[in-house]
Amino acid sequence: MKRIAVLTSGGDSPGMNAAVRAVVRKALYHDLEVFGVYRGYNGLIEGDLQPFQLGSVGDIIHRGGTILHSARSEEFRTKEGQLKAVKQLQERGIDGLVVIGGDGSYRGADKLVEHGIATIGVPGTIDNDIPGTDFTIGFDTALNTIIQAIDKIRDTASSHERTFLIEVMGRHAGDLALWSSLAAGAETILLPEIPYNIDEVIKRLERGSKREKKHSIIVVAEGVGSAMEIGEEIKNKTDLEPRVTVLGHLQRGGQPTGFDRVLASRLGAYAVELLLEGKKGLAVGLENNRLVHYPIVEVLERKHTIDEKMYELSHHLSI
Ligand code: ATP
Repeated sequence: MKRIAVLTSGGDSPGMNAAVRAVVRKALYHDLEVFGVYRGYNGLIEGDLQPFQLGSVGDIIHRGGTILHSARSEEFRTKEGQLKAVKQLQERGIDGLVVIGGDGSYRGADKLVEHGIATIGVPGTIDNDIPGTDFTIGFDTALNTIIQAIDKIRDTASSHERTFLIEVMGRHAGDLALWSSLAAGAETILLPEIPYNIDEVIKRLERGSKREKKHSIIVVAEGVGSAMEIGEEIKNKTDLEPRVTVLGHLQRGGQPTGFDRVLASRLGAYAVELLLEGKKGLAVGLENNRLVHYPIVEVLERKHTIDEKMYELSHHLSI
């Protein structure tokens, strides 16, 4: 392995820059040549690659987003698109690639492995929905952004004695909702992994108001559905006038936390180590604070699960 490349793909997440930096610096440390690919698989297809030096990744460790830019590429879903990408790599003598992204990006990485490119996946998404790692890069930063937002909403919720619904990201996974609810002391959490009953939710609200609770915060994972619609349903069935906040894309931005920077640095560097060992088709992760790797295909087959004990705990603490 003499020459490798790195790209970021799918939804951006805070800490991706720290991961890119780690890949580039670790590669240069081991005397590899390293290329940065712009705009994910789209850039790979179009040959939008640059050789990177130490300075190419200077001053980015603290920045959200990704200096490589990210994209969703329809063309790369086709075999023709994938072969164009492979050709771009082969023409430059690049035989290793690090893909930083979510499960969709892993599917793309798997295709490149099938076409003979040694590819390693690094989990970069705020959703924390990738099996084979306790945490994905960006989750902790997004979690902290959500906590700050809930804390602020709590101030106004308690001043006005209102019920608030807060919709958070996570796609089909409820991790952001669960962790933020526990950390911010929300009364109710609606997760895609655990079916809910609106009448039960209302009963909880009524129980709370009977014991003169001043406010109530319901965190809704986007995978459950629209918080607006759930708010409307509560309004129609009670005399409450719930307010709804959809946090949206602010959850994806911002300076990565220390945890995300360290996680990204460790995982990015580990991906390069695996390429140097001649490995391919693997996804890296952190489990019990140890670096681990699993075949990408296995990670894609496994189903992400929620920590049910944590869900129970949040219930016990918010009676
Ligand atoms: P996030 O979890 O933040 O949404 P992601 O990596 O899951 O990130 P996707 O949009 O699902 O984001 O995937 C990113 C890109 O990976 C797609 O735009 C596409 O180019 C490629 N990709 C996804 N699935 C496949 C597939 N089955 N075959 C080839 N390429 C794929």
